[in-house]
Amino acid sequence: MRLPGPFVVTRVVDLFHPFREPQFLLPDATPEAFAETRVSKDTRFVDVANCKLIMSFHSLIVRTPRNVILVDTCVGNHKERPLLPEWHQRTDGEYIKNLAADGLTPADITHVLCTHLHADHVGWNTKLLNGRWVPTFPNAKYIIHKAEFAHAEAAARDPATRHASWDDSVQPVIDAKQVVLVDGDHEIEPGVRLMPAPGHTPGNIVLVLDDGKQRAYLVGDTIHHPVQIERPHWSSRFCFDPAQSALTRAKFLGQVAETGAWVIPAHFAPPCAVQVVADGAGFWFKTAAE
Ligand SMILES: [Zn+2]
Repeated sequence: MRLPGPFVVTRVVDLFHPFREPQFLLPDATPEAFAETRVSKDTRFVDVANCKLIMSFHSLIVRTPRNVILVDTCVGNHKERPLLPEWHQRTDGEYIKNLAADGLTPADITHVLCTHLHADHVGWNTKLLNGRWVPTFPNAKYIIHKAEFAHAEAAARDPATRHASWDDSVQPVIDAKQVVLVDGDHEIEPGVRLMPAPGHTPGNIVLVLDDGKQRAYLVGDTIHHPVQIERPHWSSRFCFDPAQSALTRAKFLGQVAETGAWVIPAHFAPPCAVQVVADGAGFWFKTAAE
């Protein structure tokens, strides 16, 4: 699926389904508070009958003149995630099939960029081969922001905070010497650069694309769901620093509102990309179809 914006941006799906009730993801989204939002009636983003957020877990592929950059690697297969049944020990081949439908094999990817190192952004970093985790993308540099790496590595050293995703999806790529640690404003090539967006995690980043004609921001989990454009102060349960996350989101929305730039998060259901507009003192959005 081609998305609007500079260069060629496409979406490769790993999982797409109604996820959970709003308050599971966003603690401030009580049933009453959620019902007051405009997004709550939008059937593209909410399973209204069952009051569940519709979430997509997808990679974004950016084809530039020089590179094929894959942003966020979703949930993955064979991963031990007993707390989330939909993510646990998956064996379907949909992701690699969807990549092929986009005209790509894993060997074509030149860069993998994880906006942060949560389990649903690193899963397809690796695949299980003969009982060992190996990089799924054999020719790619895996780009990780230094601050994010430091935070996740420290968490992995402590048994209380160590997550299985470090062992099965990050450490094997380090061992394969495919990880490149970069600063928060790193430029991959002209028109493709990182921008720090701390809060969801300490080293969370946004990828900024600008081909001189159009601009897009691939924001990862800086915004999980469209309702957070309407309610920027609603941070997710999974934010490391919810207050900072809310500040970063509000500042970002102010920066991009009314500019025509495309905002493409990691979990928005189709049409996946939005343009932020001002709405009184707050924000709203429109999509390509509107
Ligand atoms: Zn996520």
